[in-house]
Amino acid sequence: MGMQLDRAGDIWFDGEFVPWGSATVHVSTHALHYGSSVFEGLRAYARPDGPAVLGLEEHVRRLFDSCKVVGMEIPFEPAAVSAAVCETVARGGHEACYVRPLVFRGAGTLGVDPTGNPVHVCVAAFPVGRYFGEEAVEHGIDVGVSSWRRMAPDTHPAMVKSAANYLNSQLILLEAKRHGYTEGLALDVDGFVCEASGMNVFVGLQGRLVTPPLADSILGGVTRSYVLQLARDLGIECVEQRVSREMLHFADEVFLTGTAAEITPVRSVDARPVGAGSRGPLTE
Ligand code: PMP
Repeated sequence: MGMQLDRAGDIWFDGEFVPWGSATVHVSTHALHYGSSVFEGLRAYARPDGPAVLGLEEHVRRLFDSCKVVGMEIPFEPAAVSAAVCETVARGGHEACYVRPLVFRGAGTLGVDPTGNPVHVCVAAFPVGRYFGEEAVEHGIDVGVSSWRRMAPDTHPAMVKSAANYLNSQLILLEAKRHGYTEGLALDVDGFVCEASGMNVFVGLQGRLVTPPLADSILGGVTRSYVLQLARDLGIECVEQRVSREMLHFADEVFLTGTAAEITPVRSVDARPVGAGSRGPLTE
C-alpha cells in the first residue's frame, strides 16, 4: 500500500514546472504546523492515445469547494488547475498515473490565524497500479471496525478533503493494521457505518446496494457517485441510507470505493466472512 513516488518527474508549483528536488517548502510553512491544506487525488488511465484523466471536472470542483469551506482562496482559476493536472500527466510520460493537486498555506506568520500566509498550489503525478494489489480486486481485503469515529458534523467538515481530516484517517488505518486488518471502517458520531480511512463503503443486501448518505460525515467520493450512477444504469437498486454495524456482518457483499482503491471487495469484517468470503456479483 502507498504509492511509489517518481522522483524524476517535474512538479507544477504555483504556475510553472519545477524539478522534483526544487519543489520544497520552509519549515515554518503554516500547513505543516496547523494542517492548513486541502488536496485532491485523481487517476489517469491508459488509453490507446495516451493517459486520460477520470473525473477531472468533479475533482477540480471538489478542490475549489473544499477551499471555499476552509476559507482558502486559490490564486488560480479552476480552468488553470485543470490544465495543470492535464499537463502534469502529459509531462510525466506514465501510461497511467495518480495525480495529487495540493493547495496549502505557506510560510508567513506563525500562529493559528491562517490569513497572513500565502496560498500555494502544486500538482504532482506518480505511476500507480492496484492500490491493494491485484489479488485484492479478486479476493477482497479484511477490514475491521475502528474504535476511532469519524468527526461529528459540527467539528471537522467531512465533505472537505483537508489534510487535517486525515489525522483521523491515519488513526483508523494504524489501528486496523495493528489488529491485522488491511483497512479500518469507521462509525460516525451516532454509531452508524461511515467510511474507511480513504474510501466510501457500499453494502450489498439481497440484491440491492446501500451506502451511507452524504450528511453522515463522509467525503462525497467521486467513485461513489460513479457507482451510484452505474447501479442505476444497470437497474440495480441502490439507496443512500444509514448503515448499522451489524449490516456489515450479515451483508451478502461489502465493497470500498475510492480513486486509489477503485472498487475493492471486502472479504471479511471484524474477522467474520462477508457472504461467501469472496467477490460477489454486485461488486463485480
Ligand atoms: N473517503 C475518504 C475519507 C477519502 O479519502 C476518499 C479518497 N479521496 C474517499 C472517501 C473516496 O473519494 P474518491 O472516490 O473521490 O476518491
